Amino acid sequence: MPSSSTSKAPINWPAVLTLLGTPLAAIILIPWYSQSHDFTPGAWISFICLLAFSSLGITAGYHRLWAHKTYEASKPVQIMMMIAGTFAVQNSILFWSSGHRIHHRHVDDLELDPYSAKKGFWYSHIGWMLRDYPSGELDFKNVPDLRNDKLVMFQHKHYIPLVIVTSFGIPALIGWAIGDLWGVMLLGGLLRLIVSHHVTFFINSLCHMFGKRPYTDENTARDNFILAIFTWGEGYHNYHHIFQYDYRNGVKWWQYDPTKWLIWSLSTVGLTRNLRRIPSFNIKRAELAMKFKYAEKDFEIFGHDLNEDIVHLKHKIALEYDMFTQTMNDWAKLKEQELQSKKASMAEKIHQIDLKLKQEFNLIEKNLVEQSDRVEVVLRSLRKEVKRI
Ligand SMILES: [Zn+2]
Ligand SMILES: [Zn+2]
Repeated sequence: MPSSSTSKAPINWPAVLTLLGTPLAAIILIPWYSQSHDFTPGAWISFICLLAFSSLGITAGYHRLWAHKTYEASKPVQIMMMIAGTFAVQNSILFWSSGHRIHHRHVDDLELDPYSAKKGFWYSHIGWMLRDYPSGELDFKNVPDLRNDKLVMFQHKHYIPLVIVTSFGIPALIGWAIGDLWGVMLLGGLLRLIVSHHVTFFINSLCHMFGKRPYTDENTARDNFILAIFTWGEGYHNYHHIFQYDYRNGVKWWQYDPTKWLIWSLSTVGLTRNLRRIPSFNIKRAELAMKFKYAEKDFEIFGHDLNEDIVHLKHKIALEYDMFTQTMNDWAKLKEQELQSKKASMAEKIHQIDLKLKQEFNLIEKNLVEQSDRVEVVLRSLRKEVKRI
């Protein structure tokens, strides 16, 4: 188990050279080259396309496919994501996912979270990577699924040669094809790598510092639309930390999450499948619980108790949820019995309760949305009233 008290750990030279050496090289090489050459439009287009390619390799591949298993991908998609993620130079899938699962498990813990935001911007953004884990390498005990994945292990074993081949090979190939080898090497290769590094690092730093917490306040993760734009949809980090197994981070249909759109689009042509979604009932419930929490705080500040109407609604929602959980339990029990006895009568019973469950679920969901809207209206008018007093 790694510890994040890395102040005394030895310096990780490969990481230092990559993370500090590349910006240094860019500051010298790009202005020097531009004195004697103009960058072609093709070189700038390669910068944008390759930035999208490598960043989505991390968000859709490393993060949502391998670290969280939020969907399944066909082999060609897995290979593409592996190449794109390698091209982003953020260590192997195995290493990245293991560290990321520890981050979710021990989020904000000063000792155990590898990039705890509680240790400040610099540390959570980049500082944590510049030194080794004090206890040596990660033991990968928390990624048994990935240790059994041939593609993941292939990339882990041959990581350095793969990084060299992709980092130089992809821009060189494109540069040669469009007739601007050095322009593409500098913009699509070097500058793209630096930008793609820092936008991913924003997720660990800024997404734990600035934004709203509509789903949970048990950790520092925030939802931030501006950061979602730069991070290919990962800016809805508060949602992600409470429901990490959802393939969406921007869960509302209008939220800017290109990673979610990519995964969904691939599913329409059969290249990805079994996209995991948290039931909207659970999402609404978390949202509502936070609304009550914020309201309670607001009213406390003004020395008021919660309005009776709100308290009543809160109880009603709790009761409905209990009822729903009960039906879910009944359903699970019957399913278990069905497994044991193959009788036809049992299958009929299961079908009946399945229908009942669906009806109940729809009803509760509808009620919850209505009540949530009502609570919002009541809270808004109450807040206005209290402020006037
Ligand atoms: Zn996080
Ligand atoms: Zn995550």
